[in-house]
Amino acid sequence: MKRGSPKGSKAQKKAGRSSQAAFYPFGRSGGARGEESSNSNKIDVAVQELTFTTVPPERDPDGNSEWVLGEPETKQKVFSLPGFPQPVPKPLGPPSFAVRSTPDMGLGVFVTRDIKVGELIFAERPLLMVPRGLRVKDLEDSMIMTRYGGEQITEKWDKTLDVAVRRMSLDDREAFLSLTNVYEGIGAGRLLGIIRTNGYPIRNLIDGPEDREPRDSYVYFSVTKTGSRINHSCRPNVDFDFDLTSFSSSAIATKDIKAGEQLFHSYCSVENSAATRRSQLARYEFVCKCLSCVNATPASDKFRSEYGDLALASGQWVVDPRTYIQQTLKLREDMLDEGLEGTFLYVYLLRSIYVMFRNLGMADFEKEIMEEFLAHNRVEKLEVV
Ligand SMILES: [Zn+2]
Repeated sequence: MKRGSPKGSKAQKKAGRSSQAAFYPFGRSGGARGEESSNSNKIDVAVQELTFTTVPPERDPDGNSEWVLGEPETKQKVFSLPGFPQPVPKPLGPPSFAVRSTPDMGLGVFVTRDIKVGELIFAERPLLMVPRGLRVKDLEDSMIMTRYGGEQITEKWDKTLDVAVRRMSLDDREAFLSLTNVYEGIGAGRLLGIIRTNGYPIRNLIDGPEDREPRDSYVYFSVTKTGSRINHSCRPNVDFDFDLTSFSSSAIATKDIKAGEQLFHSYCSVENSAATRRSQLARYEFVCKCLSCVNATPASDKFRSEYGDLALASGQWVVDPRTYIQQTLKLREDMLDEGLEGTFLYVYLLRSIYVMFRNLGMADFEKEIMEEFLAHNRVEKLEVV
Protein backbone atom coordinates (compact mmCIF):
# COMPACT_ATOMS: atom_id res chain seq x y z
CA MET A 1 0.00 0.00 0.00
CA LYS A 2 2.44 2.61 1.14
CA ARG A 3 6.06 2.65 0.35
CA GLY A 4 8.90 4.98 0.88
CA SER A 5 12.32 4.87 2.40
CA PRO A 6 13.75 1.40 2.33
CA LYS A 7 15.89 0.36 5.22
CA GLY A 8 19.39 1.63 5.45
CA SER A 9 22.45 0.98 7.51
CA LYS A 10 26.02 2.03 7.61
CA ALA A 11 27.13 -1.16 5.92
CA GLN A 12 24.48 -0.90 3.26
CA LYS A 13 25.67 2.58 2.49
CA LYS A 14 29.19 1.28 2.22
CA ALA A 15 27.93 -1.43 -0.08
CA GLY A 16 26.07 1.01 -2.29
CA ARG A 17 22.71 0.05 -0.85
CA SER A 18 22.10 3.09 1.27
CA SER A 19 18.75 4.19 2.56
CA GLN A 20 16.50 6.36 0.52
CA ALA A 21 16.62 9.98 1.44
CA ALA A 22 13.55 12.10 0.98
CA PHE A 23 12.63 12.52 -2.63
CA TYR A 24 12.50 16.10 -3.81
CA PRO A 25 12.41 16.19 -7.55
CA PHE A 26 11.39 19.29 -9.34
CA GLY A 27 11.50 19.91 -12.98
CA ARG A 28 11.91 22.48 -15.56
CA SER A 29 8.89 24.64 -15.46
CA GLY A 30 6.34 25.07 -18.17
CA GLY A 31 3.46 23.05 -19.47
CA ALA A 32 4.22 19.61 -20.80
CA ARG A 33 2.40 18.16 -23.72
CA GLY A 34 2.42 14.41 -23.97
CA GLU A 35 0.78 12.40 -26.63
CA GLU A 36 -1.98 10.03 -25.67
CA SER A 37 -0.64 6.67 -26.68
CA SER A 38 -0.52 3.09 -25.58
CA ASN A 39 1.07 1.85 -28.78
CA SER A 40 4.28 -0.10 -28.75
CA ASN A 41 7.53 1.22 -30.14
CA LYS A 42 6.95 4.75 -28.97
CA ILE A 43 9.42 7.34 -30.05
CA ASP A 44 11.38 9.29 -27.48
CA VAL A 45 9.91 12.64 -26.53
CA ALA A 46 11.83 15.57 -25.10
CA VAL A 47 9.95 17.87 -22.75
CA GLN A 48 11.50 20.54 -20.57
CA GLU A 49 15.01 19.14 -21.02
CA LEU A 50 13.85 15.68 -19.95
CA THR A 51 13.66 12.76 -22.32
CA PHE A 52 10.79 10.28 -22.16
CA THR A 53 11.51 6.82 -23.41
CA THR A 54 10.01 3.34 -23.21
CA VAL A 55 11.96 0.23 -22.17
CA PRO A 56 12.09 -1.99 -24.13
CA PRO A 57 11.03 0.29 -26.99
CA GLU A 58 8.71 -2.31 -28.49
CA ARG A 59 5.80 -3.97 -26.74
CA ASP A 60 7.23 -6.76 -24.63
CA PRO A 61 5.48 -9.76 -23.06
CA ASP A 62 7.46 -9.15 -19.87
CA GLY A 63 6.13 -5.59 -19.65
CA ASN A 64 7.40 -2.15 -20.54
CA SER A 65 8.66 0.68 -18.40
CA GLU A 66 8.27 4.39 -18.94
CA TRP A 67 11.62 5.98 -18.20
CA VAL A 68 12.09 9.71 -17.62
CA LEU A 69 15.73 10.43 -18.36
CA GLY A 70 17.43 13.29 -16.57
CA GLU A 71 20.41 13.05 -18.91
CA PRO A 72 19.69 11.51 -22.33
CA GLU A 73 23.05 9.71 -22.42
CA THR A 74 21.96 7.53 -19.50
CA LYS A 75 19.79 5.58 -21.91
CA GLN A 76 22.83 4.33 -23.79
CA LYS A 77 24.37 2.99 -20.61
CA VAL A 78 21.49 0.55 -20.38
CA PHE A 79 20.67 -0.06 -24.03
CA SER A 80 24.29 -0.86 -24.87
CA LEU A 81 24.60 -3.58 -22.22
CA PRO A 82 25.41 -6.93 -23.84
CA GLY A 83 22.21 -8.88 -24.44
CA PHE A 84 19.90 -6.00 -23.55
CA PRO A 85 16.98 -6.42 -23.14
CA GLN A 86 17.04 -9.79 -21.43
CA PRO A 87 13.75 -11.39 -20.39
CA VAL A 88 12.61 -10.62 -16.86
CA PRO A 89 13.77 -13.42 -14.48
CA LYS A 90 11.04 -15.94 -13.73
CA PRO A 91 10.61 -17.56 -10.31
CA LEU A 92 10.98 -21.32 -10.08
CA GLY A 93 7.91 -23.34 -9.21
CA PRO A 94 4.27 -22.30 -9.13
CA PRO A 95 3.19 -18.70 -8.51
CA SER A 96 3.90 -17.79 -4.93
CA PHE A 97 2.28 -14.46 -4.15
CA ALA A 98 -1.01 -12.57 -4.27
CA VAL A 99 -2.07 -8.98 -3.63
CA ARG A 100 -4.84 -8.94 -1.04
CA SER A 101 -6.61 -6.62 1.34
CA THR A 102 -5.38 -6.46 4.91
CA PRO A 103 -7.45 -5.54 7.96
CA ASP A 104 -5.34 -2.50 8.77
CA MET A 105 -2.80 -1.79 6.02
CA GLY A 106 -4.86 -1.44 2.88
CA LEU A 107 -3.58 -3.78 0.19
CA GLY A 108 -0.59 -6.00 0.87
CA VAL A 109 1.40 -8.74 -0.84
CA PHE A 110 1.18 -12.25 0.62
CA VAL A 111 2.98 -15.48 -0.22
CA THR A 112 0.72 -18.36 -1.15
CA ARG A 113 3.24 -21.13 -0.46
CA ASP A 114 6.30 -21.60 1.70
CA ILE A 115 9.25 -19.57 0.47
CA LYS A 116 12.90 -20.21 1.27
CA VAL A 117 15.43 -17.53 2.05
CA GLY A 118 17.10 -16.34 -1.14
CA GLU A 119 14.15 -17.39 -3.31
CA LEU A 120 12.96 -15.11 -6.11
CA ILE A 121 9.32 -14.35 -5.35
CA PHE A 122 8.65 -12.17 -8.38
CA ALA A 123 10.44 -9.85 -10.78
CA GLU A 124 8.89 -7.00 -12.71
CA ARG A 125 9.72 -4.07 -14.90
CA PRO A 126 8.92 -0.74 -13.23
CA LEU A 127 5.84 1.12 -14.33
CA LEU A 128 7.88 4.32 -14.10
CA MET A 129 11.50 5.35 -13.55
CA VAL A 130 12.43 8.95 -12.76
CA PRO A 131 15.65 10.66 -11.73
CA ARG A 132 15.80 11.65 -8.10
CA GLY A 133 17.37 14.99 -8.58
CA LEU A 134 17.60 17.17 -11.63
CA ARG A 135 19.68 20.29 -12.10
CA VAL A 136 19.04 21.70 -8.66
CA LYS A 137 19.81 19.14 -6.04
CA ASP A 138 19.35 18.43 -2.38
CA LEU A 139 16.88 21.16 -1.65
CA GLU A 140 14.53 20.72 1.24
CA ASP A 141 10.81 21.22 0.80
CA SER A 142 10.94 24.50 2.62
CA MET A 143 13.57 25.81 0.25
CA ILE A 144 11.50 24.81 -2.73
CA MET A 145 8.53 26.50 -1.18
CA THR A 146 10.51 29.65 -0.50
CA ARG A 147 12.31 29.85 -3.75
CA TYR A 148 9.73 28.71 -6.20
CA GLY A 149 6.39 28.56 -4.48
CA GLY A 150 5.42 25.00 -3.58
CA GLU A 151 2.10 24.52 -5.30
CA GLN A 152 3.28 26.06 -8.52
CA ILE A 153 6.30 23.79 -8.62
CA THR A 154 4.45 20.58 -7.92
CA GLU A 155 1.73 21.41 -10.44
CA LYS A 156 4.37 21.93 -13.10
CA TRP A 157 6.04 18.71 -12.08
CA ASP A 158 2.80 16.82 -12.45
CA LYS A 159 2.25 18.22 -15.93
CA THR A 160 5.70 17.01 -16.88
CA LEU A 161 5.29 13.58 -15.27
CA ASP A 162 1.94 13.21 -16.98
CA VAL A 163 3.82 12.82 -20.26
CA ALA A 164 5.21 9.51 -18.97
CA VAL A 165 1.93 8.37 -17.47
CA ARG A 166 0.07 8.99 -20.74
CA ARG A 167 2.62 6.87 -22.59
CA MET A 168 1.81 3.85 -20.39
CA SER A 169 -0.50 1.08 -21.52
CA LEU A 170 -3.99 1.49 -20.13
CA ASP A 171 -3.43 -1.35 -17.64
CA ASP A 172 -0.14 0.10 -16.44
CA ARG A 173 -1.63 3.56 -16.14
CA GLU A 174 -4.49 2.23 -14.08
CA ALA A 175 -2.06 0.31 -11.86
CA PHE A 176 0.09 3.41 -11.38
CA LEU A 177 -2.76 5.76 -10.63
CA SER A 178 -4.26 3.33 -8.10
CA LEU A 179 -1.17 3.53 -5.88
CA THR A 180 -1.34 5.45 -2.63
CA ASN A 181 -0.37 9.11 -2.41
CA VAL A 182 0.25 10.15 1.18
CA TYR A 183 1.32 13.62 0.09
CA GLU A 184 -2.07 14.72 -1.09
CA GLY A 185 -2.54 18.35 -0.22
CA ILE A 186 0.85 18.72 1.44
CA GLY A 187 3.16 19.90 -1.25
CA ALA A 188 3.10 17.27 -3.96
CA GLY A 189 0.82 16.89 -6.94
CA ARG A 190 -0.82 13.53 -7.44
CA LEU A 191 1.82 11.97 -9.72
CA LEU A 192 4.77 13.29 -7.76
CA GLY A 193 3.01 12.18 -4.58
CA ILE A 194 2.62 8.64 -5.91
CA ILE A 195 6.33 8.53 -6.78
CA ARG A 196 7.38 9.91 -3.42
CA THR A 197 5.13 7.46 -1.60
CA ASN A 198 6.00 4.37 -3.62
CA GLY A 199 9.43 4.88 -5.17
CA TYR A 200 12.37 2.53 -4.68
CA PRO A 201 15.90 3.85 -5.26
CA ILE A 202 17.89 2.13 -8.00
CA ARG A 203 21.47 2.37 -6.75
CA ASN A 204 23.20 0.73 -9.68
CA LEU A 205 22.08 3.27 -12.27
CA ILE A 206 23.60 6.72 -12.06
CA ASP A 207 22.14 9.49 -14.19
CA GLY A 208 24.67 11.10 -16.53
CA PRO A 209 28.18 10.31 -17.70
CA GLU A 210 30.00 7.07 -16.92
CA ASP A 211 32.66 8.81 -14.87
CA ARG A 212 30.21 10.70 -12.67
CA GLU A 213 30.75 10.14 -8.98
CA PRO A 214 27.86 8.07 -7.58
CA ARG A 215 25.77 10.27 -5.32
CA ASP A 216 22.22 10.06 -4.04
CA SER A 217 21.27 13.00 -6.23
CA TYR A 218 21.99 11.00 -9.36
CA VAL A 219 20.08 7.79 -8.62
CA TYR A 220 16.80 6.79 -10.21
CA PHE A 221 13.57 5.90 -8.48
CA SER A 222 11.27 3.17 -9.69
CA VAL A 223 7.59 2.65 -9.06
CA THR A 224 6.45 -0.92 -9.59
CA LYS A 225 3.10 -2.63 -9.82
CA THR A 226 3.57 -5.31 -7.16
CA GLY A 227 6.69 -4.26 -5.21
CA SER A 228 5.15 -0.89 -4.45
CA ARG A 229 2.25 -2.72 -2.76
CA ILE A 230 4.52 -4.29 -0.17
CA ASN A 231 3.85 -2.92 3.29
CA HIS A 232 6.32 -1.86 5.94
CA SER A 233 7.77 -3.75 8.89
CA CYS A 234 10.83 -3.08 11.03
CA ARG A 235 11.37 -6.87 10.64
CA PRO A 236 11.58 -7.05 6.82
CA ASN A 237 11.48 -10.33 4.94
CA VAL A 238 12.04 -9.18 1.37
CA ASP A 239 14.62 -7.10 -0.46
CA PHE A 240 14.93 -5.86 -4.03
CA ASP A 241 17.67 -6.18 -6.60
CA PHE A 242 17.49 -4.16 -9.79
CA ASP A 243 18.97 -5.82 -12.87
CA LEU A 244 19.79 -3.40 -15.67
CA THR A 245 20.04 -5.97 -18.46
CA SER A 246 16.46 -7.14 -18.00
CA PHE A 247 15.45 -3.71 -16.64
CA SER A 248 13.61 -5.36 -13.82
CA SER A 249 13.35 -5.43 -10.06
CA SER A 250 13.55 -8.82 -8.31
CA ALA A 251 11.87 -9.39 -4.96
CA ILE A 252 14.09 -11.80 -3.00
CA ALA A 253 13.13 -13.45 0.30
CA THR A 254 15.59 -12.48 3.02
CA LYS A 255 14.29 -15.14 5.40
CA ASP A 256 12.11 -18.24 5.20
CA ILE A 257 8.46 -17.18 4.80
CA LYS A 258 5.47 -19.40 5.56
CA ALA A 259 2.48 -19.71 3.21
CA GLY A 260 -0.07 -17.02 4.06
CA GLU A 261 2.44 -14.58 5.56
CA GLN A 262 2.69 -11.04 4.29
CA LEU A 263 5.79 -9.66 2.59
CA PHE A 264 7.38 -6.70 4.33
CA HIS A 265 10.03 -4.22 3.42
CA SER A 266 11.29 -1.48 5.73
CA TYR A 267 10.46 2.10 4.78
CA CYS A 268 12.71 3.49 7.52
CA SER A 269 16.14 2.87 8.96
CA VAL A 270 15.93 -0.30 11.04
CA GLU A 271 18.82 0.74 13.27
CA ASN A 272 16.79 3.59 14.73
CA SER A 273 14.89 3.47 18.01
CA ALA A 274 11.18 2.63 18.02
CA ALA A 275 10.32 6.28 18.66
CA THR A 276 12.48 7.50 15.77
CA ARG A 277 11.07 4.85 13.46
CA ARG A 278 7.57 5.94 14.44
CA SER A 279 8.36 9.54 13.57
CA GLN A 280 10.00 8.53 10.27
CA LEU A 281 6.91 6.52 9.35
CA ALA A 282 4.45 9.23 10.34
CA ARG A 283 4.44 10.67 6.83
CA TYR A 284 3.03 7.37 5.58
CA GLU A 285 0.10 7.83 7.93
CA PHE A 286 0.37 4.60 9.87
CA VAL A 287 1.80 3.34 13.14
CA CYS A 288 3.90 0.20 12.78
CA LYS A 289 2.59 -2.66 14.89
CA CYS A 290 5.38 -5.12 14.19
CA LEU A 291 6.67 -7.22 17.10
CA SER A 292 9.75 -5.04 17.42
CA CYS A 293 7.67 -1.88 17.77
CA VAL A 294 5.06 -3.41 20.08
CA ASN A 295 7.71 -4.98 22.33
CA ALA A 296 10.27 -2.19 22.10
CA THR A 297 12.32 -1.53 25.23
CA PRO A 298 15.29 0.73 25.98
CA ALA A 299 17.42 -2.41 25.59
CA SER A 300 16.03 -3.22 22.13
CA ASP A 301 16.50 0.41 21.09
CA LYS A 302 20.09 0.25 22.29
CA PHE A 303 20.67 -3.02 20.45
CA ARG A 304 19.32 -1.63 17.19
CA SER A 305 21.62 1.37 17.48
CA GLU A 306 24.64 -0.86 18.10
CA TYR A 307 24.18 -4.02 16.07
CA GLY A 308 25.51 -2.47 12.87
CA ASP A 309 28.86 -1.50 14.36
CA LEU A 310 29.11 -4.85 16.14
CA ALA A 311 28.31 -6.82 12.99
CA LEU A 312 30.94 -4.85 11.09
CA ALA A 313 33.44 -5.37 13.92
CA SER A 314 32.94 -9.12 13.54
CA GLY A 315 35.00 -8.82 10.39
CA GLN A 316 37.98 -8.05 12.67
CA TRP A 317 37.04 -10.60 15.31
CA VAL A 318 37.67 -13.48 12.90
CA VAL A 319 41.41 -13.24 13.57
CA ASP A 320 40.83 -14.38 17.16
CA PRO A 321 37.90 -16.79 17.01
CA ARG A 322 38.53 -18.35 20.42
CA THR A 323 37.99 -15.01 22.10
CA TYR A 324 35.13 -13.78 19.96
CA ILE A 325 33.07 -16.75 18.78
CA GLN A 326 30.64 -16.69 21.72
CA GLN A 327 29.85 -13.01 21.46
CA THR A 328 29.51 -13.31 17.68
CA LEU A 329 27.00 -16.14 18.07
CA LYS A 330 25.15 -14.10 20.72
CA LEU A 331 24.98 -11.18 18.30
CA ARG A 332 23.44 -13.49 15.72
CA GLU A 333 20.83 -14.69 18.25
CA ASP A 334 19.97 -11.12 19.19
CA MET A 335 19.62 -10.10 15.54
CA LEU A 336 17.26 -13.03 14.99
CA ASP A 337 15.22 -11.97 18.03
CA GLU A 338 14.88 -8.46 16.61
CA GLY A 339 13.88 -9.81 13.18
CA LEU A 340 16.98 -8.36 11.54
CA GLU A 341 18.05 -11.41 9.54
CA GLY A 342 16.68 -9.66 6.46
CA THR A 343 19.46 -7.09 6.65
CA PHE A 344 22.70 -7.08 4.73
CA LEU A 345 24.63 -6.95 8.00
CA TYR A 346 23.17 -10.25 9.11
CA VAL A 347 24.68 -11.87 6.03
CA TYR A 348 27.94 -10.12 6.79
CA LEU A 349 27.80 -11.58 10.31
CA LEU A 350 27.21 -15.07 8.89
CA ARG A 351 30.35 -14.66 6.84
CA SER A 352 32.34 -13.79 9.99
CA ILE A 353 30.93 -16.80 11.84
CA TYR A 354 31.76 -19.05 8.92
CA VAL A 355 35.37 -17.88 8.89
CA MET A 356 35.62 -18.33 12.67
CA PHE A 357 34.30 -21.90 12.54
CA ARG A 358 36.64 -22.66 9.70
CA ASN A 359 39.62 -21.30 11.62
CA LEU A 360 38.56 -23.30 14.68
CA GLY A 361 38.30 -26.46 12.60
CA MET A 362 34.61 -26.97 13.47
CA ALA A 363 33.55 -28.46 10.17
CA ASP A 364 29.93 -29.31 11.05
CA PHE A 365 29.12 -25.79 12.21
CA GLU A 366 31.05 -24.38 9.31
CA LYS A 367 28.89 -26.29 6.84
CA GLU A 368 25.65 -25.23 8.51
CA ILE A 369 26.58 -21.55 8.50
CA MET A 370 27.89 -21.73 4.94
CA GLU A 371 24.57 -23.17 3.78
CA GLU A 372 22.65 -20.36 5.46
CA PHE A 373 25.08 -17.82 4.06
CA LEU A 374 24.74 -19.21 0.54
CA ALA A 375 20.96 -19.35 0.83
CA HIS A 376 20.85 -15.61 1.40
CA ASN A 377 21.88 -15.26 -2.21
CA ARG A 378 24.28 -12.43 -1.54
CA VAL A 379 27.41 -14.38 -2.28
CA GLU A 380 28.58 -12.09 -5.00
CA LYS A 381 28.78 -9.24 -2.52
CA LEU A 382 30.56 -11.15 0.23
CA GLU A 383 33.16 -13.52 -1.04
CA VAL A 384 34.80 -15.57 1.65
CA VAL A 385 38.56 -15.54 1.33
ZN1 LIG B 1 7.87 -1.75 13.50
